Amino acid sequence: MLKNRQSRLKRFFEEYALQAVLFTDLKNIRYLCGFSGTEGVLLVAQNQSWFLCDSRYTAQAAEEVKNAEIMECGAVRIDTIAALASENGLKRIGFEAAHTTVSAFRRMSEKLSGVELVEIGTALDDIRICKDHTEIEQLSLVATLSSLSLAAVLENIKPGVREIDIAQALEFEMRRRGADGKAFDFIVASGERGAMPHGKASDKIIEPGDLITIDFGALKNGYHSDETVTVACGKPQIRAQEIHSIVRIAHDLAIQAVKPGINCKDLDEVARSHIRDSGYGDYFGHGLGHGLGLEIHEMPTLSPRSTAVLEEGMVVTIEPGIYIPGFGGVRIEDTVVVTGDGCTVLTSADKQLLIL
Ligand code: ZN
Ligand code: ZN
Repeated sequence: MLKNRQSRLKRFFEEYALQAVLFTDLKNIRYLCGFSGTEGVLLVAQNQSWFLCDSRYTAQAAEEVKNAEIMECGAVRIDTIAALASENGLKRIGFEAAHTTVSAFRRMSEKLSGVELVEIGTALDDIRICKDHTEIEQLSLVATLSSLSLAAVLENIKPGVREIDIAQALEFEMRRRGADGKAFDFIVASGERGAMPHGKASDKIIEPGDLITIDFGALKNGYHSDETVTVACGKPQIRAQEIHSIVRIAHDLAIQAVKPGINCKDLDEVARSHIRDSGYGDYFGHGLGHGLGLEIHEMPTLSPRSTAVLEEGMVVTIEPGIYIPGFGGVRIEDTVVVTGDGCTVLTSADKQLLIL
C-alpha cells in the first residue's frame, strides 16, 4: 500500500524533472512511509527512499517505517541529506515550500550547493485527495467511534450543565472507546452563542429552550472524524425549529446530490439555494464543506469559489448552517465518502431535531 503511494509520486518526478523529493510535512511523511512521530524527514528518489530522524525516534521508526531506509542523523541532518544527494547523483530535488522555513531553506541552499531545489507546491495534496481503501476503513472506524460517543453524552445534557462539561464528557467517551484523542477543540455553542460558527465550548450554562450546536470529532491512527448536531434542551422556539428544518433539508439535498463528476461549487449551491430560497441566504456565510483525512481540513473545498470536481474516493463533509446574531444558530454536518454512483455517509448521529 505504502509502496503504491510512493509510486504515485512518479508523475511528479516527470512533471518537475526531479530525481528526488524531500518531504518535511509530517502528515505527508506518515502517508508515504507510515511514521507517526513528530520529527523526521523523508527523501524519496525514483527507486529508493530514506527516512532521516534523530536518535529519539529510531526505535519508533524501526517499528513503523515501511519502504524507506532508516537513517539516524546527528545534529546536522542536512549533512546526511547532502551526502545522500552526492552518492546517488540527485541533482534536482523537490521540496515542500509550504512546510519549509526560510532558515531551513537557506541552510539547504548552502549545504546542497550542487543541487537545484525545486518547489513542488501541493503535489501531494493532489495525491491524498482521493482516499485508498485502507484510509476509508480508518475514516469509517473513527467516524463510528465518534458518533457513538455523542450518543452516550446526549443523555446527560440538561439545564444547568456547562458547555465545557459537554465537551469534556465527549472527549472522555471517545478515549474510552479507543480514540487517540480529539480531532480538534470541540464547538459547543448554546443559545445566542450558536450564532458563532466556531464558538468553542465555554463555561456558559445550558438554559431551558436553548439550541446547542455540537461540532465534534475523534482522532485515531492519524485519521480525523468531523460531525455536527444541533439539539434542543427542552422545547425550542418556533423560529429555532424552523431554521433547524431548513438546514436539515439543505444538508439532505446536498448529500443526495453527492456523486463523482459534480462540481464542488454546484454541490455548495444545492444547499445554499435552499437556504437562500427560505429567506436565510445572508446567514450562511461559510462554505458547504471540506475534505478530511490525516488532517481535519484537506482538499477539496466545497464553496461557491471551489474549482474542484468530486471523484470516487474523496471524503468530504457536508455542513450547511444558519447563524443569526442575537438569536442563535444551527449547523448539521456529516462526513461522506464519494462512491461510484453517489456516497456513503460515515457519521451516524441522528440529524432530526432531538429535544432533550
Ligand atoms: Zn465539524
Ligand atoms: Zn467540518
